[in-house]
Amino acid sequence: MEVWDKMQTAGSMLVAMAIRGSRTPMEVVMEDLYHRVARWISSSQRVVVFTGAGVSTESGIPDFRSPGGLWERYNPDDFTFQRFQESEEARLRYWAMSTEMYRVLKTARPNAAHLAIADLYRIGRLDCVITQNIDGLHQASGLPRDRVIELHGTALEVGCLGCGKRYDRDEIQERLLRSSQAPRCEDCHGLLKPATISFGQQMPQRETAEAFRRAEQSDLFLVVGSSLVVQPAASLPLAAKKAGALLVILNRDSTPYDSLADALVRGSAGEALGKIVGEVRTRMGLAPST
Ligand code: NAD
Repeated sequence: MEVWDKMQTAGSMLVAMAIRGSRTPMEVVMEDLYHRVARWISSSQRVVVFTGAGVSTESGIPDFRSPGGLWERYNPDDFTFQRFQESEEARLRYWAMSTEMYRVLKTARPNAAHLAIADLYRIGRLDCVITQNIDGLHQASGLPRDRVIELHGTALEVGCLGCGKRYDRDEIQERLLRSSQAPRCEDCHGLLKPATISFGQQMPQRETAEAFRRAEQSDLFLVVGSSLVVQPAASLPLAAKKAGALLVILNRDSTPYDSLADALVRGSAGEALGKIVGEVRTRMGLAPST
C-alpha cells in the first residue's frame, strides 16, 4: 500500500512536471515567487533597492561574513576608526587590508544583479538604490550618481581626516608604493584614509537622513545581498516596513528581518533579479533587455 502511494505521488509529480514544461517543483515555487515580486514592482510607485556586499560577490568581490569572506582572514577589531586614529601600526595594517580589497575592486565589473537594477531605473521602476557597498559598481552599471546613496562611502576616493580634502585613490596607492609610512595630506598634514566608513566612525549625516527618508516614502523596499547586521543601515528595512512598504528580502542566507518580509527569496542575486526584472518588462509590454 505504502509503495503504491509513493508510486502514485511520483507519478502525479511527473505529470505535473510534464504539464509545467518539465520544471521541478522547486523551480515552480521560485517562479511563482519571482512573478509575485514582479507584479508588486510593476504596480509600485516608489521602489527602493537596498544593497549589501552580496550584490557584488558575483563580480568577484568577497563579502565579509560568508565562508571565505574577509572576516575569516582579518579581525574586524583591528580596523576600528579609533585604532586608525591612535596608532601608525594600525594605519599601516588598515592600508594593507584596504589595498588588497582595492586591487579586486578596481578590476571588478557590474554583474547581472547590478545590471538588472540599472534596468529597473531605465524602465522607470526605480526610485533609488541605497547601498552599503563601497565599490562604485551601481554607478558603473549605468545608474546616475544622484540615484545611488552610498551609506558607507566609497573606496574609489581618499579623504583627509583633518581638512576634508579629497584625493583620487590611484594617486594615493602610488604614494603607498614609494613610502613605508601611512599617507598624510599635502595641505594640512592630516591623516589620509579611504573615503569609507569604518566601525566606530560617524555615519555621513546627509546620506543617512536621505536613506531613511527614501525608505519611509517607498512602497516597495527590496533588500539584495545583505546580512542586515550592520547598524544603522540594517534598520532601513524596518523603517520602510513600519511606514507601510512591502518588504522583499533577496539573500543567500537568513537575516534577522526575514520574519518581517512579505516575500523572501533565497538564492543568487544575479539570477533572481534577472528573472524578476525580465518579468517586470514582460508585464509592461517591453522587449527583453539586451
Ligand atoms: P555581509 O558580508 O554582512 O553579508 C552579505 C550577505 O550577502 C550574506 O548574508 C550572504 O548570504 C549574501 N550573499 C552573498 N553573495 C550573494 C549572492 N550572490 N546572492 C545573494 N546573496 C548573497 O555584507 P553587508 O550586509 O553588506 O555588510 C558588510 C559591510 O561591509 C557593509 O558595509 C558592506 O558594504 C561592506 N562590504 C562592502 C563590499 C563591497 O563594496 N563590495 C564588500 C565587502 C564588505
